[in-house]
Amino acid sequence: MDKIDHIELGQIVTRIYNRYKDDINVGKVADYIPTLKEVDPRGYAISVATIDGFVFNVGDYHTGFTIQSISKVLTLAMLAPRLGDELWRFVGREPSGNSFNSLVQLENEKGIPRNPFINAGALVVTDRLMDFYKDDTDIRLSTRAITKEAILRFVRGLSGEENIDFDKITAQAEILTAERNYALAHFMKSFGNIGNSVQDVINTYCHQCSIRMNTEQLAKAFLFLANSGVNPLNGERIVGLRDAKRINALMLTCGLYNESGDFAYRVGMPGKSGVGGGIVALIPGKLSIAVWSPELNSNGNSHRGISTLEDFTTELGISVF
Ligand code: GLU
Repeated sequence: MDKIDHIELGQIVTRIYNRYKDDINVGKVADYIPTLKEVDPRGYAISVATIDGFVFNVGDYHTGFTIQSISKVLTLAMLAPRLGDELWRFVGREPSGNSFNSLVQLENEKGIPRNPFINAGALVVTDRLMDFYKDDTDIRLSTRAITKEAILRFVRGLSGEENIDFDKITAQAEILTAERNYALAHFMKSFGNIGNSVQDVINTYCHQCSIRMNTEQLAKAFLFLANSGVNPLNGERIVGLRDAKRINALMLTCGLYNESGDFAYRVGMPGKSGVGGGIVALIPGKLSIAVWSPELNSNGNSHRGISTLEDFTTELGISVF
């Protein structure tokens, strides 16, 4: 199938939604902070956005959820065009094979994280991003406040929705339980791979994880990666062609924690998940799709989200392969 038929797309998504809508108690909602623990496990939404402007939603697509690790792609997209190849001196681009917040690998690899989507790598990206907001002339604002505002502005611009915001209660709870992220950041700082204060980096990182979006906003926000780096909603170039290719490749190889290989095998799209139960994935040149279902499997990925996406590419007959 070359051009995607919008009616058929809607029918496929509706069929998959109906197939899985009662499929609960198959995983476990993240419970390390109250705002995640209290999420209704029955929540389920699918949104597809095509680069030619069609959007199809089904389920709880008005319900916002915290995007968590999905934010790592967005901060990388902010940083990559600014830093260029310099970025790869501070972070690698290989799958880690270890858990997303592992300390062990960092020791062996002298404070250079394997990739930008494990926590250590995302902390380095946030730290470097903060460097670009240091010289702002408004001295009443801290670097971290300016960076957080810039991240919000970026996400709002991508999805065309001004009401996207941090979930401040989640952000505070994340900061209070971020012991392992503090450990990672301090450890990397001891190798000289974190420049800003660890507290500021963790604060900024926990805020980016706490951004609350719904599936429609998320699908729209990732369209630029399906459209060679240009946001089709307003024609703005977000990243260059090469960065779009690279970020998509990283999502394919590293986007689903320790399940990235299996996700590529089953789903065949670059994707990124978060412990809030969201997964966003895309087919370059065609569309992006966001799924939300908060029950997670043992790898920390949305259980129903993966089944949904697997059926989607199978029934649509298109993937990146
Ligand atoms: N805020 C979480 C953490 O850094 C994000 C987890 C995730 O979605 O992987 O621990």
